[in-house]
Amino acid sequence: MLIVQKFGGSSVANAERIRNVAGIIAESFLMGHDLVVVLSAQGDTTDELLDKAAEINPNPSKRELDMLLTTGEQQSIALMAMCLEGMGLPVVSLTGWQVGIRTDTVYGSARIRRIYTERLRRELDKKRIVLVAGFQGVNKFDDYTTLGRGGSDATAVALAAALHADRCQIFTDVEGVYTSDPRKVPEAKKLEEITYDEMLELASMGAQVLMNRSVQLAKRYGVELEVLSSLVRAPGTKVKEVSKNMEEMKITGIAKDEHVARVTVVKVADRPGSAFRVLNAVSKAGVDVDMIIQANGREETNDMSFVVAEGDAQRAYDALMERRSAIGFDHVSLDRDIAKVSVVGAGMMSSAGIASLVFEALNDEHINIQMINTSEIKISCVIDAPSADRAVSAIHRKFFES
Ligand code: ADP
Ligand code: ASP
Ligand code: MG
Repeated sequence: MLIVQKFGGSSVANAERIRNVAGIIAESFLMGHDLVVVLSAQGDTTDELLDKAAEINPNPSKRELDMLLTTGEQQSIALMAMCLEGMGLPVVSLTGWQVGIRTDTVYGSARIRRIYTERLRRELDKKRIVLVAGFQGVNKFDDYTTLGRGGSDATAVALAAALHADRCQIFTDVEGVYTSDPRKVPEAKKLEEITYDEMLELASMGAQVLMNRSVQLAKRYGVELEVLSSLVRAPGTKVKEVSKNMEEMKITGIAKDEHVARVTVVKVADRPGSAFRVLNAVSKAGVDVDMIIQANGREETNDMSFVVAEGDAQRAYDALMERRSAIGFDHVSLDRDIAKVSVVGAGMMSSAGIASLVFEALNDEHINIQMINTSEIKISCVIDAPSADRAVSAIHRKFFES
């Protein structure tokens, strides 16, 4: 059996953790499996490297930033290889370049275009454990790129797809995917299974346990994922096309995203094409928007609000202000003190009243809802940031604790 295993930053944070993971790898290898193992940078290494860069230059080029960030993962694979060597096991570590993970040219959030499998196959044929640096690839200029935060998940899934692996195991510091972040909601329950679509919504709405693009890849290539703990031996969560939870459970999980900001364009001229011009300006700046609301307002103008990732807020603001006279509005205001709380579940489609239960939970806590967005399997509410944890707990109690 060919297995792709991925271990996240906390799983390899120090020497003791590396030895622990080496034990898991060794056990699978000694059972006779072919193993490709993707590693993240140790602990908070990526954040520390970002801090180091900021000390030198607060505005470095993305190319050089990627050159720096990719070193974190390279340390992990080398250290893990040394550990496995010390145990007398055959092993080789490979960077994204050595494997042949080719990406597009978007430094900082590159997408994988192609994975060459020849080198991997050669190493596997030699019966070696192959360690691959996660989160990185190489673009057409032969420059290193990174895949976006949490990108080692995407590396693992893409390798599993390219190699037609029999299993793809994502080892992390919790026992699987829970109904909510188990570190914030102690009552959260571990899910036995979850569908790709539900996991994609949870990941996109702030559940960092899997990177959302890794879930997209898994769905596209039919890679079944298993999320499990590197520290506790326990059955994890399967991420797949259909799950048995769909029938029993109305909702599957609750996620929270505090890294969002609201952009309000005030007094937009009330004429055809205004909304287009506003959103076009923002999208041309490479900013994704969510939860668009237009308030029918005074006289000949409307206010338009939407939510963006906090890191994109300034860019959206600048792009709008640059075109202020062409679009026709009074001013733009930014509110960073908000959070988005989302309830996800495939069972929502068939049961009415989910939304009202969510609103009731928030009302019980006297939390004001500022914006609402619904889709077939998701309801999101924007609320003030300080109420976010209380909101998640209240909704969790309503659906899972009675
Ligand atoms: P890794 O370093 O292994 O990639 P991450 O820190 O990226 O790990 O993701 C694991 C973390 O995701 C957990 O420690 C947990 O706090 C958080 N998390 C958020 N939402 C959930 C959820 N619904 N289920 C499980 N973990 C979650
Ligand atoms: N080390 C990278 C990050 O911190 C990638 C990952 O952990 O998956 O985002
Ligand atoms: Mg992660």
